[in-house]
Amino acid sequence: MILAKTLAASGIEVDVYESKSNVSDGSEKASGIISKIGLDRIGVEYKKSIVNKLSGAILHSGSRKLRIKSNDTKAYVIDRGKYVEECASEAKREGAKIYTNTRFSPNDLIRLKDQYDAIVGADGAVSTVAKTFSFPPIGSYVLTYKAEYSGADVGETDVVDLFFDNTMMHNFFGWSVPYSHDIMELGLGIDSAYKKNSKAVFDRFVKKPEIAEMLKSSNMVSGHASMIPLETRQKTVIGNVLLVGDAAGQTKATTGGGIVFGSGCASIAADSITRYINQGIPLSRYERAWRRKYGFEMFLHKKIHNLYSSSSPARMDRIFNVVKAIGGEKFLGSYGDMDRPSIMLKRLIFRGLISD
Ligand SMILES: Cc1cc2nc3c(=O)[nH]c(=O)nc-3n(C[C@H](O)[C@H](O)[C@H](O)COP(=O)(O)OP(=O)(O)OC[C@H]3O[C@@H](n4cnc5c(N)ncnc54)[C@H](O)[C@@H]3O)c2cc1C
Repeated sequence: MILAKTLAASGIEVDVYESKSNVSDGSEKASGIISKIGLDRIGVEYKKSIVNKLSGAILHSGSRKLRIKSNDTKAYVIDRGKYVEECASEAKREGAKIYTNTRFSPNDLIRLKDQYDAIVGADGAVSTVAKTFSFPPIGSYVLTYKAEYSGADVGETDVVDLFFDNTMMHNFFGWSVPYSHDIMELGLGIDSAYKKNSKAVFDRFVKKPEIAEMLKSSNMVSGHASMIPLETRQKTVIGNVLLVGDAAGQTKATTGGGIVFGSGCASIAADSITRYINQGIPLSRYERAWRRKYGFEMFLHKKIHNLYSSSSPARMDRIFNVVKAIGGEKFLGSYGDMDRPSIMLKRLIFRGLISD
């Protein structure tokens, strides 16, 4: 929708085909934690979609905790349904045409490819566009399960809790997100390579004593399984076909968040398509441009993911001890950036140089 809005605003004719009857259907399968900086940069009105404000996170390992908290709001919990509806109405206002209830098949795509200057697959983690045009596969996914509870004992309402336990949430983690003092979300992810059912692991997760305590007088309102790509495709442009967002694997491997990078790449795709149509500049520019802008950050997210996903609970305890001992909680609370680890790295190096 962001790509459609940007293209339509530059005077390019855009048709969006969406298989669901409402653009917001299914949005409850994903969470909506998005950095304040990221939301401001995307440029879609989000104030009406805010569910809660977040100023930090508590990270739990086997028996240790890291408390990373800022004095300011760092991120929002966004109602994903309202947000995508706003994205769609801004796209429509710019002149994009949105056809809901319209599922494209591989045969439709092959036919459409010659009718349009460019085709963009923004069709999610299991992309029909990528499959139809033989894009290289995504090798690593996280299987998720996410549920909402009312009547919960939420505790602090401005921090998320992240639970690292590789013996249960293989290569990923569990989370709890406060919506209000008594409404919350719980979720987890597991590496698809473990071939386990995310709901079965979730049923064990909610029995952890600290989780069971929060849920003791609650009701489960909804629960959904889904998936997140954990790596980018090696190619995201073939001829006049481009991939954007989860279809391209443009997510953060640390958390699986895909809105900030996906929408940033959508803007780059819109710019590349506009230059292709108006000036004949090849669409391969998109591939270079998005990797130049986000490639290093995605690489750092992958490195951080590799660190926690290869650590046993005992090793996570030791890592947490070291982070605490060197004042990491305060540093991350002040300088942490959930989208751009390179900013933290620069600040860390700068601080090291200053204190030498
Ligand atoms: C449990 C979970 C928690 C998450 N939490 C966060 C978070 O807190 N913050 C964050 O930034 N990100 C989060 N994400 C990731 C985020 O949801 C995705 O990165 C984002 O939705 C990707 O957007 P997209 O437009 O690329 O794909 P999608 O949101 O998957 O949209 C693809 C669209 O294409 C349509 N479509 C698919 N196939 C066809 C077809 N053949 N014909 C027509 N239409 C089709 C689908 O109906 C869908 O509407 C989470 C994901 C999950 C699963």
